[in-house]
Amino acid sequence: MVTAESTSEPEREPEAESAVETARAQLERAAAHLDVDDGIIERLRHPDSVYQVAIPLKRDSGTTEILTGYRAHHDDVRGPYKGGIRYHPDVSEEECVALSMWMTWKCGVMNLPFGGAKGGIVVDPKDLSETEEERLTRRLAEELRPVIGPMKDIPAPDMGTNPQMMAWFMDAYSMQEGETQPGIVTGKPPAVGGSEGREEAPGRSVGIIAEKAIEHYGWDITDTTVAVQGFGSVGAYAARYLDDHGASVVAVSDVDGAIYDPDGLDTNDVEDHDARPGMVSGYDAPEQLTNAELLELDVDVLIPAAIGNVLTADNANDVQADMIVEGANGPTTSRADSVFEQREIPVVPDILANAGGVTVSYFEWLQNTNRRAWSLERVHDELETEMLQAWNAVRTEYEARDVTWRDAAYIVSLKRIAEAHDARGLWP
Ligand code: GLU
Repeated sequence: MVTAESTSEPEREPEAESAVETARAQLERAAAHLDVDDGIIERLRHPDSVYQVAIPLKRDSGTTEILTGYRAHHDDVRGPYKGGIRYHPDVSEEECVALSMWMTWKCGVMNLPFGGAKGGIVVDPKDLSETEEERLTRRLAEELRPVIGPMKDIPAPDMGTNPQMMAWFMDAYSMQEGETQPGIVTGKPPAVGGSEGREEAPGRSVGIIAEKAIEHYGWDITDTTVAVQGFGSVGAYAARYLDDHGASVVAVSDVDGAIYDPDGLDTNDVEDHDARPGMVSGYDAPEQLTNAELLELDVDVLIPAAIGNVLTADNANDVQADMIVEGANGPTTSRADSVFEQREIPVVPDILANAGGVTVSYFEWLQNTNRRAWSLERVHDELETEMLQAWNAVRTEYEARDVTWRDAAYIVSLKRIAEAHDARGLWP
């Protein structure tokens, strides 16, 4: 390998675009296509508020540590704030703000009566025992109590959090309120008011939208090859959905690396990373690749479904896929987006593709409010209906204006949000 030191080329600065910069650049691009009051756009460039908490955690060893948590509220003009809580060492105020902005657009594009929020704790969940996870989650629920509520801000799972944690969160909140309040959080286990089909929903929607995009370009799904980065709760379900609908999923990865079979993997035989970490590389595949190599495979559809900022100005020119469908939140920086636009590689954005998660969260919240559970079949049917409606709205803008898929999705969302701001006005 040639290192930077051994060449006469000046060393290129790695791209350093923050998530908020990406989010604001995307908003400004979309705003340029619409006749929206500048004051409304200026409000949307900033979060309504960011709440920071210090969370004392008693470790199993008896020592006490202080962890930092955040909850960013971006915009609630159309309804209560909504968005996940992540446990990850890279959580920061800045990242929560960007992610809360994306939740606003996601709820807007899906036409859900919610605004955008996101929160998290700066912690590596791999360093937590189950009892520590429980104490931390209960204490987080208590620390956030002043700013959340079933009609105010409804958290949900995100990276590093799961249905069991949502059950503890709901229990802690309910005990303090003196009444069982299942609608305080979504993504719970069905035993405590969680919706059937919620866990697979983000991956399922990635599959549904990828299938529509494949159809849009006139490709035959049975001739389509797919690579999925991240075989966790989004990637695994997306890969299996597309595999079950005839596509050939040739590569999948987890943090440890990727497996590749040009003839297609049997995705139902690969265990997802969340269920059994290490099983992706444990699958008997003809070839092992790195995560970076997976992103550069010559496939029809690339689905980044792991973490943010993986497609940057540094590798966008090396991507050989013919289409990108975003499973993760914010996997593509705005500079990488410009490269893909120039190279005519369509990027179907996160705010549409993975919106099945928050959509079934909305179904869960309705079920909690009405105290009536829906069948899995009903959840699947209504999710499909909502995804197709959103797809059609985005496709209409895409075809009517000469814009990217991301711009089209933002335009659909921003129109609804701006109209609501306009109608409500600014007080005082
Ligand atoms: N964390 C998920 C997302 O990023 C779901 C949020 C929710 O269900 O509220 O869309």
